[in-house]
Amino acid sequence: MTSDAPAPVGLETRPSLPGTLFTEQAGGEVNAGLDLRAVPSYKSPLKIGRSNSVSVSSEATEGDSGARSDSEEGTVEGGGAMEKRGRFRPATECVLVESHPSVHDPYRASSTPLYITATFKQSSATEMGEYDYSRSGNPTRTQLELHLAKLMSAHRSFALSSGMSALDVITRLVRAGEEVVAGDDIYGGTQRLLTFLATHSAVTVHHCDTTKVSSVIPHLSPRTRLVLLETPTNPLLKIVDLRAIVAAVRQHAPSAVVVVDNTMMSPYLQRPLELGADIVYHSGTKYLSGHHDLMAGVVGVRSEDLARQIAFVVNATGCALPPFDCFLLMRGVKTLAVRMDRQQRNAGRIAAFLDGLRTADGSRVLPSVFYPGLPGHPGKEVHDAQSEGAGAVLSFTTGSVEKSTKVVEGTRIFGISVSFGCVNSLISMPCHMSHASIPAHLRAARALPEDLIRLCVGIEDVQDLIEDLEGALRAAGVI
Ligand SMILES: *Cc1c(COP(=O)(O)O)cnc(C)c1O
Repeated sequence: MTSDAPAPVGLETRPSLPGTLFTEQAGGEVNAGLDLRAVPSYKSPLKIGRSNSVSVSSEATEGDSGARSDSEEGTVEGGGAMEKRGRFRPATECVLVESHPSVHDPYRASSTPLYITATFKQSSATEMGEYDYSRSGNPTRTQLELHLAKLMSAHRSFALSSGMSALDVITRLVRAGEEVVAGDDIYGGTQRLLTFLATHSAVTVHHCDTTKVSSVIPHLSPRTRLVLLETPTNPLLKIVDLRAIVAAVRQHAPSAVVVVDNTMMSPYLQRPLELGADIVYHSGTKYLSGHHDLMAGVVGVRSEDLARQIAFVVNATGCALPPFDCFLLMRGVKTLAVRMDRQQRNAGRIAAFLDGLRTADGSRVLPSVFYPGLPGHPGKEVHDAQSEGAGAVLSFTTGSVEKSTKVVEGTRIFGISVSFGCVNSLISMPCHMSHASIPAHLRAARALPEDLIRLCVGIEDVQDLIEDLEGALRAAGVI
């Protein structure tokens, strides 16, 4: 980002970031009387002017080899149009790991010290230190959680063993008789866990089209405990208006907690807590780690009440991220901005290439290309208003399952793999792979095309990626 954006602001305006909330020996009681309705509406302390959104135009496919500078792609708004968290711009905050009294390091190590220990000795039989048992707290984890809380604009954050364990912890806020409202085009694992919740406990789960506020409202009531959102959705990149749904929930289900799965965007591109959500979570396995070398989940909350409830469940169930994985995740997060910038830029170029393919008579080659950076993508204005970029996942159809299969198998650089967020580019057919667990009739009902190809774009030279795709499309007879 350029140097003419707002000046750094003082540390004292940051929300307080406590260390551990529990030790194994103390803090065993969760306050059953916590009233979520008492949570004040979140107000981000600061404003920032920043945008790194990529606008795709057909010219983007022409000319250069992809080695364009960030500033050519980004538009920097100087006047505070976007809400801000923290003191510096997000790319700076990713690498700036601050020391905190909860993590005493007399040697001031540049890399977070790794405490591979299950237990911590007490100074006497009666005096307890800050840490006693790593399920309850570990300094390496505390350092990571403080860093992630800052990036997410969260009051507190929790590093957990996977994205699914993050959702598991969150769903434990729901009690018998209460209800969950969730999208109908959600991550397959989320669907599976919510179905388990609905069949194993007295909890009702409503699925609806969260891209339309009007289809969410009828499901909201005083019984609603969680409203679970994902935007953009995967693999069709549908956009959910987070501010509008938060407003509807506050009005129709005042005791409900708005939860956003922000895995597709990462905190670098979208910070739902700044848009009014109560809880945000990420699969840390994806962009936060960036290298597909660990599993992790991250939860960020906007209030102390929610922090205490989540901390209780994490300590009670023992799903916190082990120290070594905390160390790895911290290392990954430091390069989040530079990876995301590059991946997003590459994705924008590839989307423009695919969308611009024409036959000799000038008609479109590909029936559809789904990418929020493309002009005309449904919900693009909403996406642009709530995020700072289109991300690095896109999908397209070829019109034929057979041809799509050939394209997927015909690329040389793109690995055929589920998941996304890695520095390597990946290609998949969701209906055969990540979404195969959803029955065919449900896939059809959700208009998930069987010939859909998903690309998760990495940091390679974009010209190589485009040539690789072009070769595979040609070999498959698509072009
Ligand atoms: C991968 C993913 C998850 C689950 O995370 P794991 O780390 O695999 O448990 C949840 N939501 C989304 C959107 C994901 O992509």
